[in-house]
Amino acid sequence: MVNRIFLSPPHMSGQEQKYIDEVFKSNYIAPLGAYVTKFEEMITAHTGASYALATSSATAALHLALRVLGIGKDDLVLASSFTFIGSVAPILYQNAQPVFIDSDSSWNLSTELLTKAIDELPVKPKALILTHLYGQMAEIDEIVSICKAHGIFLIEDAAESLGASFKRQESGTFGDLGVFSFNGNKILTTSGGGMLVSENESWIKKAEFLATQAREEALFYQHEEVGYNYRMSNVLAAIGVAQMEVLVQRVAKKREIFSWYQEELSALEEITFMPEVAQSIGNRWLTTLTFAKTDPFSVIKALEKENIESRPLWKPMHLQPLFKESLTFLNGMSEKLFHSGICLPSGTAMCRSEVQKVSTILKEML
Ligand SMILES: *Cc1c(COP(=O)(O)O)cnc(C)c1O
Repeated sequence: MVNRIFLSPPHMSGQEQKYIDEVFKSNYIAPLGAYVTKFEEMITAHTGASYALATSSATAALHLALRVLGIGKDDLVLASSFTFIGSVAPILYQNAQPVFIDSDSSWNLSTELLTKAIDELPVKPKALILTHLYGQMAEIDEIVSICKAHGIFLIEDAAESLGASFKRQESGTFGDLGVFSFNGNKILTTSGGGMLVSENESWIKKAEFLATQAREEALFYQHEEVGYNYRMSNVLAAIGVAQMEVLVQRVAKKREIFSWYQEELSALEEITFMPEVAQSIGNRWLTTLTFAKTDPFSVIKALEKENIESRPLWKPMHLQPLFKESLTFLNGMSEKLFHSGICLPSGTAMCRSEVQKVSTILKEML
């Protein structure tokens, strides 16, 4: 495995072990402590969000977001279809009903279909879970105004887009609530973890209450509603603090890797890279592209033979057997992307020669 080129492996800053040692010295080997608070402060400082809550995963943070917004049985929740399962599984945890919206040429949520869904659904949806796919911003200002005009809560799934921005405002801070992920292959990692952010202090306080078993204020253990064990460990938060110190460099490197692939491959007519919405700066978490003719799965196999990890694009949620009964507003876009695209290795420790090696194999295949 030594010479394997991975899709997006963890990339430590070098300070992680030192901070973990401090956690051990303090003996706060617990889902609370100074590093949890520091990690939350670094997220609010970087993103400009007013309040943050560190969680065990982004999926947990999304579940908390639905809970604090009061979304429950049979409520309709709009969602990007072209996303990862963690984005939408919490809708099912709440026994609510997902309504999947297809993509447009940005690869992200189609604002046209969003408007159509709101107009045509017999019941008003309560919320939209919007994914910024592969770290690239959706048409966020238009989506914010559509949601505001119709009184629909906006939850930004910024699990892939930490450090991305639109008109200098950070992803995750446009919606009523935003969520980041620190899973193993995200731009920053704590091995596993998430963050919930908002401008609304009472929602973040309520989320914290729910994330710590919904313990009422009393000397004894008193419970009036169901909660979860969703807080982040102080040990993992120490990793998060060390990772946050290099976020700006990591975004710059992801974007540099994308530009290297562009230089190598953009002359090929067969290839189209994922676009960037005007006035946005994506974090290019993964370099993704589509082929006009070539089967992406044959490319993935060819790269695998050279010990290079690549992946298909997300299989849209409306094509998943789990959601075969769900309502949809489709235009064929995400299905077409799924059948024609791949994610290329984009680890921030990659060097130019590795990008060239991947690109040479692609050129030979086409
Ligand atoms: C990774 C990811 C999630 C889930 O994050 P976890 O921290 O692993 O729970 C949710 N949505 C999207 C779009 C993701 O890429």
